Amino acid sequence: MGKDYYAILGVPRNASKEEIKKAYRELVKKYHPDLNPDNKKEAEEKFKEISEAYEVLMDDEKRAKYDQYGEEGLNFQGGFDWSQFHHFNDIEDLLGDLFSQFGFGRNFRQGSGEDIYLEVPIDIKTIANSQKIELRYQRKDKCEACNGTGSRTRKRIKCRKCNGTGYIRRTVNQGFFVFTNTQPCDNCGGSGTVPEELCRSCGGTGVTNKNERIEINIPTGINEDEIFVLRGKGNYDPNGGYGDLRLRFKINYMEYRKRGDDLEKPIDVDFIDAIIGSKYKVSLLRGEKEIEIPPGTQPDDTIRLTGEGLPKRNGKNGDIILKVKVKLPKKINRKQRELLEQFRKEEGGFFNNIFHH
Ligand SMILES: [Zn+2]
Ligand SMILES: [Zn+2]
Repeated sequence: MGKDYYAILGVPRNASKEEIKKAYRELVKKYHPDLNPDNKKEAEEKFKEISEAYEVLMDDEKRAKYDQYGEEGLNFQGGFDWSQFHHFNDIEDLLGDLFSQFGFGRNFRQGSGEDIYLEVPIDIKTIANSQKIELRYQRKDKCEACNGTGSRTRKRIKCRKCNGTGYIRRTVNQGFFVFTNTQPCDNCGGSGTVPEELCRSCGGTGVTNKNERIEINIPTGINEDEIFVLRGKGNYDPNGGYGDLRLRFKINYMEYRKRGDDLEKPIDVDFIDAIIGSKYKVSLLRGEKEIEIPPGTQPDDTIRLTGEGLPKRNGKNGDIILKVKVKLPKKINRKQRELLEQFRKEEGGFFNNIFHH
């Protein structure tokens, strides 16, 4: 019976459209190739598989045929491909949370150069203090010398081998059978034309490697789960134009910990300062700041510094939360000891420690 679309989406055979949509949404998040830059190929196959299942099960007619006759009841001759998929808008909706305002890529709809994936390391100080960052990467670009024609004269002429058709017919005798097959012309790569005179910069391909340097605005509310797409900044393909540049940020939180929209970091406070209060200078993301340690500060108390954190989605800054670690001296001299003994007497056993005499 071929593929089990229900098993592929992990839904029961009587699943409602809502259930199917929900299951598909989860799987898209898991298998979308943009979210799996490390094993894109595998993810792409899996993504195609779940999308095929989705296409069938969301369509009443196709689903009925499939339920009755199995995969053969559907006319996906030669296999399912994206031209048979009718739910790109759904994917865009489903991924709305995950993808930036730059939108969903077009790499399943084919016809452009390859996309480039770039992991961009960035630390939170840079995020807090800069509007822009510079990216350096290498990409395939249109050869400037020949304007992408591959020809020094910038002219292309008809390919003689295929007579401009771009393909070659071969007749193969095999026993009683004669096969004719059609293959892209190896002389012109299927384009039907060849450079009039080979361009030396690109060797006739029309494409050169280029070291790219671009400046981008650091996205507001930047996070590590999102892919940022820069249209047309990927590799150039003479037959399809430019692919996209896809960025994923790798954020270095330095000595901080992420707490929702805020950042937390420990602050060492001397025990005497904790008891009687003091002023401290702390180094934050945008420089130093004087803060108040109030008298009676306890270990793990927190001091919230409003607006000192990273920009949030709404443009406002998050907070920094300082978590107090009270530092006790490991060694004290005789004089200090006497003073502390005196303090204990003065305290009058407030701490009620049974070991006090
Ligand atoms: Zn040719
Ligand atoms: Zn060239």
